[in-house]
Amino acid sequence: MDLDASDADAAFRAEARAWLAAHVPATPLPSLETREGFAAHRAWEAQLAADRWSVVSWPARYGGRDATLFQWLAFEEEYYAAGAPGRVSQNGINLLAPTLFEHGTPDQRARVLGPMATGEAIWAQAWSEPEAGSDLAALRSTAVRTDGGWLLRGQKTWSSRAAFADRAFGLFRSEPGAPRPHQGLTYLMFPLDAPEATVRPIGRLDGKPAFAELFLDDVFVPDEDVIGEPGQGWRVAMSTAGNERGLTLRSPGRFTAAADRLTALWRESADPTDTALRDRVADAVIGARAYQLFTYVNASRIAAGGTLGAESSLNKVFWSELDLALHETALDLLGPYGALADDADDAPAHGSWAEGYTFSLAGPLYAGTNEIQRNIIAERLLGLPKEARA
Ligand SMILES: Cc1cc2nc3c(=O)[nH]c(=O)nc-3n(C[C@H](O)[C@H](O)[C@H](O)COP(=O)(O)OP(=O)(O)OC[C@H]3O[C@@H](n4cnc5c(N)ncnc54)[C@H](O)[C@@H]3O)c2cc1C
Repeated sequence: MDLDASDADAAFRAEARAWLAAHVPATPLPSLETREGFAAHRAWEAQLAADRWSVVSWPARYGGRDATLFQWLAFEEEYYAAGAPGRVSQNGINLLAPTLFEHGTPDQRARVLGPMATGEAIWAQAWSEPEAGSDLAALRSTAVRTDGGWLLRGQKTWSSRAAFADRAFGLFRSEPGAPRPHQGLTYLMFPLDAPEATVRPIGRLDGKPAFAELFLDDVFVPDEDVIGEPGQGWRVAMSTAGNERGLTLRSPGRFTAAADRLTALWRESADPTDTALRDRVADAVIGARAYQLFTYVNASRIAAGGTLGAESSLNKVFWSELDLALHETALDLLGPYGALADDADDAPAHGSWAEGYTFSLAGPLYAGTNEIQRNIIAERLLGLPKEARA
């Protein structure tokens, strides 16, 4: 693997850096988990899209720049180093879009990707159900055949930002009598503003209202909004899950930038005799750098025609634990002030360490819990015996 950037890659990085320096808001936007912040982040998506920075790795005809995986990684490094806003469109861009590129029809790509790239349509992921999280195949929500489409009925839960999103994508049971739970599922896109859909916020630790559960009472979905073949939803969903845990959800730029901010915090505010805390800062920096290099190895493998497969579970466990360690160390450095929320006037770094910390607590859970990822690593990567299943 050659870590020296080509001239084209260096030029791409320089262009991204210059654009970000000119456009990143001087004051952080309000949290995207609030109504006001959601609107502000949607406007930021439009600003990114206007200069084709919202989806750099997509083909130019859908608003992208045909960037390579390495250019995308460079963009992400620059993005986070510039302190640019969190991406309110990430469920659509990182999860639904790769699924449509792989399994969607040309008509779906033409209809869905443009408004996704500009933030005009923001998507929520509607997979989990009250009895179907780790065991996703236990889901019970149904899609029932009707004239020209399907009627969705059931309850979805833990849907990030669904309280303010426009549309959602999820899995539904379309053949109740199928012999196995993974069979007879259909992957559909549906509106969240339909009168038959009730979106109810779920309280979060930090009180922000965007997280939600969905109650669907015969929401109509036309045939053209089925992704892949009816009944083949599991296969389609598994390609989405690989993207979520693997490269795209948490690019290393997020952690290298946070590690740099942590080092600066140490220099500004630490007691230099506290070597235990100093070692934790060093560990976080090493972890971020190791993750960055591991990602470059994975990107090289993909560029050479390989795939990620079960290795994406290694990524998921690593970035979620790294995120926790980074934020816990920052809060220990900041002392009591570190706990102030983003709306408190004297919150350090506009409350971003505190908000980042509460979010990092969820990292070992969302995108598939770390216990489940460890099962996958044990069984599929290490070849250890399978766990006993009921
Ligand atoms: C912040 C956040 C955002 C989320 N966003 C979304 C979203 O946008 N869309 C969406 O669809 N879902 C979302 N989720 C849901 C998430 O995917 C689920 O919480 C997760 O898959 C776990 O499912 P569960 O909560 O039902 O827990 P359960 O599956 O009930 O698990 C409970 C505990 O048991 C453990 N466990 C279960 N089975 C095993 C096993 N076989 N071996 C060892 N341990 C096991 C789990 O690891 C966990 O610790 C989100 C969750 C969080 C916390």
